[in-house]
Amino acid sequence: MDKKKYVDLNLSHREDWFLEEPVVSLLNEYFFNPTISQASDQNKWLEERKKVLYSMARAIRNGSVPLAKNGPCRIRNVEEIDKVVIHHTGRTILPTDHVLCLLHAMHMINIYIKPRSDKDNPCYGEPLWSGNFKSGRQIFFAYHYLVYPDGTVVNLLNDRLIGGHSGLAEINGTSIAIAFLGNFMEDTPTKEQIYSVEKLLAKYPNCEILGHREVKGSTTCPGNTFLGKDGWKEQLT
Ligand SMILES: [Zn+2]
Repeated sequence: MDKKKYVDLNLSHREDWFLEEPVVSLLNEYFFNPTISQASDQNKWLEERKKVLYSMARAIRNGSVPLAKNGPCRIRNVEEIDKVVIHHTGRTILPTDHVLCLLHAMHMINIYIKPRSDKDNPCYGEPLWSGNFKSGRQIFFAYHYLVYPDGTVVNLLNDRLIGGHSGLAEINGTSIAIAFLGNFMEDTPTKEQIYSVEKLLAKYPNCEILGHREVKGSTTCPGNTFLGKDGWKEQLT
């Protein structure tokens, strides 16, 4: 195994982490190129991936990730919204605060690293900018709503803010994203989650309801139990 793949990035003590090429390559591999590392040792890779994500979440919490002070405005007109895209987080269930912090960190990594693969990321080497704010603080949430197993709905983004949830700019610009907390590759959401989302969808009567996988063929999100005659999509529409 390549030893240099498994190092502690210690982001919480490095205010300049975003300028470091090794950090970019490592994050890229941990988050967007799983086949290489998984092939060598899947458990170890998942463990490291988790460690990096937690380290990033900690760095955000203690304010050591440099954020840009300004950038392009990303506000839209709500009239442009014509669909609701359903996601699952695919994650184990954790306390509320923790989940929010990890989702925030995950999407921040997503913005910063992913387009790097085409060597054309304008964010590379720059302080981070999402264009989205809540209570005066810049936020990096990809979803508008997160729905917990007990039916609690957390509103992460205002409808006028564009969430980077689908991987497709034209979809993101015209949609609301609702994420169910959990993994529904085999299981289905709780009845409390379904009930809460039914109520939530009443706010968007003119929107088409689609699973992430219906707008982007390369993902399995929101799981294998979503579509089909007995799929839980039926309960939402
Ligand atoms: Zn998704």
